[in-house]
Amino acid sequence: MKIIRTTHSMATWSERLRREGVTIGFVPTMGALHGGHRSLIQAARLRCDALVVSIFVNPTQFSPTEDLAAYPSPIAHDRALCREEGVDVCFEPTAQAMYPGGFQTVVTVPVLARRWEGEARPHHFAGVATVVTKLFGMVRPHLTVFGQKDYQQAALVRQLVNDLNLGGAIQVRPTVRERDGLAMSSRNVYLSADERRIAPLLSQALRAGRQMIEGGMSDVAAIERSMRQTIEQSPTMYVEYLAVCAPDSLEPLSLVTDRAVLLGAVRIGSVRLIDNLLVKMPGRKSRATR
Ligand code: AMP
Repeated sequence: MKIIRTTHSMATWSERLRREGVTIGFVPTMGALHGGHRSLIQAARLRCDALVVSIFVNPTQFSPTEDLAAYPSPIAHDRALCREEGVDVCFEPTAQAMYPGGFQTVVTVPVLARRWEGEARPHHFAGVATVVTKLFGMVRPHLTVFGQKDYQQAALVRQLVNDLNLGGAIQVRPTVRERDGLAMSSRNVYLSADERRIAPLLSQALRAGRQMIEGGMSDVAAIERSMRQTIEQSPTMYVEYLAVCAPDSLEPLSLVTDRAVLLGAVRIGSVRLIDNLLVKMPGRKSRATR
């Protein structure tokens, strides 16, 4: 496996492979790789000749009060996982290489970024959209794989790729979970033992919402109330949002008539967890899986 650290070397490598007719798969990450990342890597590996994984803790998607400095960076572990999965290139640029002095361009996707994570983390999605645009420009992937775990991010990237004609296919893979339902996340290591025990309540709340919809309940207020009650079983977990939304626009619904996405964000102590579930009213034909 090749480790590339400069933006120029990354672009040159991709340019050469493209000229040779090789298809390039890409999985962008911030490292601290876990089973969720592994499933994206495996999905991309199956569909492409050459596979690039980027490991870059992108400073522009963190606000000054967030956990940038504390974000885990187990690079030896990450490289070992990439090797195990047959990754060809680990792209590990420095922040200086990505954002040299004088850098000023910002990419925004204003409508999809307005609510939910965008409201809780005002500069987050501009950071994400900008870094994804830069990475796509260097890696020039034929296929990029994202996780449903970050549902709003995946929706925003689809929009970005479409709007800016960035080319290449986008695949979104299902969320990989721990046995108790907690969505795998690099941030789960921040949870204390007590916090870890109550963390699965978020996925339980979403499942409770899904069960109601699958049982025919269409009243969003009732569904949201029930999800909230699940979280309120713990006095130390706080709801940031729990919402029933249209799966493409992410606008809140008042009535579920077909498909919906249940989006949730909670805080336990200083840790913020997000999760989501796609759901479909019974008796409707499903659209192709995302
Ligand atoms: P991150 O390293 O957290 O920026 O995530 C990199 C990619 O991995 C994103 O596309 C995430 O949505 C995806 N991802 C993170 N956690 C999971 C998970 N539990 N299951 C599937 N994909 C995930």
